[in-house]
Amino acid sequence: MTRVLVIDDDRLQYRLLQQHFRNFRRGSYELDWSETYEDGLARLLTGAYAVCLLDYRLGQRDGLQLIQEAAASGCRTPIVFLTAESSDNIDIQAMEAGALDYLVKGEISPHSLERSLRYALKLGDTLEALRRLATRDELTGLLNRREYERILAEEEERSVRFGHPLALVIVDLDRFKSVNDLHGHSAGDAVLKEAARRIAGAIRTVDRVARIGGEEFALILVQTDRASALEVARRAIAAVASEAIAAGGGLSLPVTASAGVAELPSGAQGAAGLFAAADKALYAAKAGGRNRAVSAPQARGTP
Ligand code: GH3
Ligand code: MG
Ligand code: MG
Repeated sequence: MTRVLVIDDDRLQYRLLQQHFRNFRRGSYELDWSETYEDGLARLLTGAYAVCLLDYRLGQRDGLQLIQEAAASGCRTPIVFLTAESSDNIDIQAMEAGALDYLVKGEISPHSLERSLRYALKLGDTLEALRRLATRDELTGLLNRREYERILAEEEERSVRFGHPLALVIVDLDRFKSVNDLHGHSAGDAVLKEAARRIAGAIRTVDRVARIGGEEFALILVQTDRASALEVARRAIAAVASEAIAAGGGLSLPVTASAGVAELPSGAQGAAGLFAAADKALYAAKAGGRNRAVSAPQARGTP
C-alpha cells in the first residue's frame, strides 16, 4: 500500500482526486488529506508518506513555500505539484523548489495522475540512492568525510551565530594495522563495521557520526560543551571495548580505541581549528597509553 498525502485547501478538488484514484488500473494507494499549510507540512514531516500531491494555492501561503520549508527540515518525500492554471513560470519555480512533477488540475486524468505518481516514486528512490552514495561511507553506512566537512562547517557557523558550544570527538581504533596484518583485510573490515555500529550507538540522534579515515571516526556534538563531550567520548570508547568483536571464521578480537575531544568556542577557533585541537588531543591519548579519551586544553582568556 502506497500512502499518498494530498495537501489542498479545496475539498472539491480532493474529492475529484479521490475519484481518479478509484479509477486507477494498477497499484494500491491509500489517500490522506490535509486542508491547510500547517497541517500539511506537519504530516509531510512525519515521513509516513511515500508521495505528496501539493496544491499551489494554500490560503495566505503557497505550495512553493511549503516545499522549501519541508526541504529545509530534511523532508525527502517526492512531491507532485498541482496548480489550477497552466503557467510555465510556476512549473519552473516548482521544479526549482524541488517538486518532481507538475500537473495542471483541469488536465488531470486517472491515467496521467497514476503515471505521474509512479514516476515521482521511482525518481524519488533514485535520488535517495544517489544521495546515499554521495553522503555515506560504503563499508559502515556512516556519513562520509565530505559530508562530515559540510556539516562541521554548517554547525560551526550556527555555533558562532547562536552562541552555542560545539564539540568534536575524533575516535581512532588502537593498533588497527595489526588486525589487518595478522588476520587479513576482511577481518579488518568486519571489525571496522562493528566498531562503527558501537560508536554510533553511543551518541544522541541529533548528533552526527562520520568515518573520516580508514579507522578514524568523527562525532559532531551540537550544543555540547567539553565536559559532556568527554563523557560521550568515553562512552564510545567503552562501547568499542565492551566485548571482543567477531571478525569472521570464528575469530573474535578484543579491540580498543582512543579519542580526542575539543570544543568551540573555548578550546579552538573555526572548524579547522576545532579539528586540529581534537586531533592533537587524540595524539595525546595515543601517547598516554591508548584506550582513553583526552580533552584539548581550554584556550587562555576564555571562560
Ligand atoms: P594507532 O593505535 O596509533 O592508531 O595505530 P594504528 O595501527 O591503528 O594506526 P595506523 O594509522 O598506522 O594504521 C591504520 C590502519 O588502518 C592502516 C590500514 O591497514 C587500516 N585500514 C585503513 N582503512 C581500512 C579499511 O577500509 N579496511 C581495513 N580492513 N583496514 C583499513
Ligand atoms: Mg589507529
Ligand atoms: Mg588512524
